[in-house]
Amino acid sequence: MPGFLLLPGDCLLLVDAAGNVTWVDRSATDLVGAESSGWQGQPLSACWPALSSLVGKHGMRLQQAPLDLELPDPRGMIQAVRLFQTDHGIGVGLLRSRRRGELEHPLTQMLCGMFDAVQDALLVTLAEPMAAPGPVIVYANSTLLRETGYGRSEVLGRSPRLFQGTGTDHRVTRQFGEQLRQWRHARMEVLNYTREGRPIWIDLKAAPLADANGTYSHWVAVQRDISERKAGEALLEQQVLSDPLTGLPNRRGLLERLEQALNQPTHHIGLIFCDLDRFKDVNDRYGHAVGDALLLEISQRMQTVLRENDTLVRLGGDEFVLLVDQLHNEAGALQLAERLQRCLAVPWRHGGDEFSLSMSMGIAFSSCTDPASNNSLSAEELLRRADLTMYDVKSKGRDGIAVYSIASDRRVQQIVSVRQQVEQALRHDRLLLHLHPLVDLHSGAVLSAEALVRLRTAADDLISPETFIPVAERSGLIVPIERWVMDQSLRLLADWQAENHGWGVAINVSPQHLEREEMAGELLQLQQDWGIDLTRVTLDITETVLLQSNAHTHHNLTALRQAGVRIALDDFGTGYSSLAWLSAFPIDVVKLDRSMIAGLDSDQPRTTMVRGFVQVFQDLGLSVVAEGIETEHQRQALLAMGCSLGQGYLFGRPCPAAPTTLEGAEQPRHLSWRRHQIGLSRAEMPPLNRLPGRGGGRKGKRQAGDWI
Ligand code: C2E
Ligand code: MG
Repeated sequence: MPGFLLLPGDCLLLVDAAGNVTWVDRSATDLVGAESSGWQGQPLSACWPALSSLVGKHGMRLQQAPLDLELPDPRGMIQAVRLFQTDHGIGVGLLRSRRRGELEHPLTQMLCGMFDAVQDALLVTLAEPMAAPGPVIVYANSTLLRETGYGRSEVLGRSPRLFQGTGTDHRVTRQFGEQLRQWRHARMEVLNYTREGRPIWIDLKAAPLADANGTYSHWVAVQRDISERKAGEALLEQQVLSDPLTGLPNRRGLLERLEQALNQPTHHIGLIFCDLDRFKDVNDRYGHAVGDALLLEISQRMQTVLRENDTLVRLGGDEFVLLVDQLHNEAGALQLAERLQRCLAVPWRHGGDEFSLSMSMGIAFSSCTDPASNNSLSAEELLRRADLTMYDVKSKGRDGIAVYSIASDRRVQQIVSVRQQVEQALRHDRLLLHLHPLVDLHSGAVLSAEALVRLRTAADDLISPETFIPVAERSGLIVPIERWVMDQSLRLLADWQAENHGWGVAINVSPQHLEREEMAGELLQLQQDWGIDLTRVTLDITETVLLQSNAHTHHNLTALRQAGVRIALDDFGTGYSSLAWLSAFPIDVVKLDRSMIAGLDSDQPRTTMVRGFVQVFQDLGLSVVAEGIETEHQRQALLAMGCSLGQGYLFGRPCPAAPTTLEGAEQPRHLSWRRHQIGLSRAEMPPLNRLPGRGGGRKGKRQAGDWI
């Protein structure tokens, strides 16, 4: 078995299975004469009959190993010939480098010994032919044979394509070939296969070798097995693309798959964005370890309803996305969403507790392209649409499924813009406090003021709390807003106390704020800071607070009430209007909503109902405040029912606690004017135009006041 199949100076002829010459080395003209230049494409039998019969005679034996033979050449000289198997037929080497009887040069033997001692796998090919069947391998060292599992005779004469297989990336091998063609050093990382078909990653470097005349004659390639490194990289990649808790693809994994799916123009894709409702409650109640275990179980449950082409992804937290590829119609995605909803609703058990979960789901389809641009959707845009549709479902009360529409997009954009305005207002101190007086309906005397927040935009427009409070409640921004309102209100109260005014202040608090453990403590701290009398503070809460209450809500309300704060049930008459709240929660005051009061002018049944409520609340020992009194007739009717406390435009509109130059803002003087109009001359108006908290207000002395 030769070490090198061919050496520089040897000449190569390739003959295909049909006996035609497919390749003749340029150097053949030196060895066999000028006529060899026309052999390519001719039957070998016509070109060199003796060689052709030699090939015919020995060709069958070449599977085992190359054969060294001798043959007179057309010029009558004895030619050393080496026959070997190639990828497409038989290779004929005309060995110029060897003298007769001496087939292996001693120097070559020594070189082979040295190369075999090298740790890296080494392969030498002829530089030509670059096209099929590819460069002929003339040498392979022991490391290469060991790593690939091939015998030397199976490799020599073949082309390196022998090692390639189904997983080989031919874009990479083509690029590599391009560089070789330009006689440049080339390098690639490519997936090869052993003789048994086991894939191995190799790092392959090749360099051209020139002969004594400076003509490039060979390629020498050094290759190293990098399978272990590649496996590590693949694992890392897998980790980067998947969620550690559930093993599902993560956001990056989703975007990658989504992009692949979107690149198939015939595929109709649906994306279902799922967000668990109130999952935070589970974490708060049972701890994060239980929350994680539940998320894992949820992901497993969700996977039971998937079809073959669906991919479930966990984006993080309690957000999952279902990628529905090759969708037949949109109804299919809706049905899938409903199945997810049903599978989640089956009760969950933890310890002795049983509870059910729900999800808000938004669906977007790849087919709903932007009518304006007619562009197809990007993966990011499709995800955004599904996400905002889910957000829309959440803001409408959760536990539902909706399909993306331009209208929901606009609605959510609006919400997002309001949220940004709230964030900016908090950052740049652009919240304003307005006060609305609560009066004694007999005398018109102001007893207290309700603190109402407004937001001033960068363009100096005022935004109503009815626009931004719901957005702030959903985003959690309500907490810093209400901290600010409380601080301002208590500063104001401290000023009034210092000036011996007996007025109180009513502050609206949201469910999101009240359910925070630290809420009561923070208010008590403010009381300490400002030295105010907490019996002058009322917290206005709505039925939603009571509906959404958790253990902290109860604790906060009880602790504050014990400290002297009064609790008012606001907007009574707009929700369930359940009297059951009154015994279940610590409530001192009920505020009848202005929708009830508006009916007093004309609506007899409404009047009877209001009278009934006033009676019941007073019998229960609660104070009753009528909201939204706009007419003198309403005031009289309420007084006739025995309700003597009220608020409303009849006595004045909310006005800034601090003087303002804003256009459209009510000025404090307006309050006085209104009071004058209805002849409440004894009414004592709070100095609403004062900036609250101007020094001296802290630790002011306490003034008792009979304000509600
Ligand atoms: P609310 O607590 O029921 O406040 C009363 C709202 O009714 C105020 O609107 C007030 O201007 C309006 N109002 C009072 N009298 C009349 C009347 O005679 N006729 C009519 N048509 N309306 C009257 P505003 O200031 O726009 O506040 C709206 C809501 O915003 C408040 O309703 C309250 O729920 C919320 N809000 C305001 N400030 C805060 C806050 O600091 N925290 C929270 N959570 N909510 C707040
Ligand atoms: Mg209120």
